[in-house]
Amino acid sequence: MKKSWKAAALVFATVMLTACGSKADTNQTNDTAVSAQPQQTEESATTDKTSEADVQEAVPETGGTLTFGTNAEFPPFEYVASSGVIDQYDGIDMAIAKNIAEQNGMTAAVENMEFDSLLVALQNGQIDAAIAGMTVTEERKEKADFSIPYYTATQVMIVKEDSDIASASDMADKKICVIQGYTGEICVKDLGYPYEAFKKGTDAIMELVNGKCDVVVIDSATAQKYVFDNDGLKIVEDASAFASEEYAIAVKKGNTELLDKINKTVEAMLADGTVAELGAQYIEAISAE
Ligand code: GLN
Repeated sequence: MKKSWKAAALVFATVMLTACGSKADTNQTNDTAVSAQPQQTEESATTDKTSEADVQEAVPETGGTLTFGTNAEFPPFEYVASSGVIDQYDGIDMAIAKNIAEQNGMTAAVENMEFDSLLVALQNGQIDAAIAGMTVTEERKEKADFSIPYYTATQVMIVKEDSDIASASDMADKKICVIQGYTGEICVKDLGYPYEAFKKGTDAIMELVNGKCDVVVIDSATAQKYVFDNDGLKIVEDASAFASEEYAIAVKKGNTELLDKINKTVEAMLADGTVAELGAQYIEAISAE
């Protein structure tokens, strides 16, 4: 069954560093590439204050490999395909990662791991950068430095088509599913509702499809993919409960050299419309499967 796909509208984004709960940004319910000239965010500034003493190899040499960590369970940002832009990995983030490496004279490689492991992998030098539709939060900023944001999203609720859930507060007496470590989990926790956390988005969706839970809270673009793939589901938005979130690329704390290179490429890709184009292209691609 072919479902209609609502392309993401382009709106200007406000930098929000809380994962959820703020009502300051209620008009931002559509996900989108951020504005072409993003503001320099605080996190770039804070990196200057961090000691660089513990950075082993800030940037791989020219001709070397720039290793990105991701969790390839998050279409349209990263997923496994028969052939992807970096090995079998495809998606908006993978295309951005490849471009960052190439623009800086390197080759991109991907290490696929659990979302929860990404910041640890950065800290121990297993990966050079993490690109995973990762929302910038105050807590994560304590563990890593973040690039300028490249995408604005929000949490949404996926429910069965006949569900009576119309707002976040309607979840109070329902069975809620989230994905472990995602901002969706943080949001539901902040709302104070009990929930069950799954390792993978697809597992949470199966619970919903099989009637074992009533609602899945997850990022908007990924939610649209799941609703497209599974009959009988719909998305419910609640901008007063879920603030907009900013996706950015994480590097090890203090690695300003790599961060500057990443920021230059991301800034150029935002300014010339590449990120917005990639968004449209991959949303189209995953909804035509
Ligand atoms: N944006 C969400 C977060 O940062 C989910 C990211 C993901 O699953 N890849 O937690």
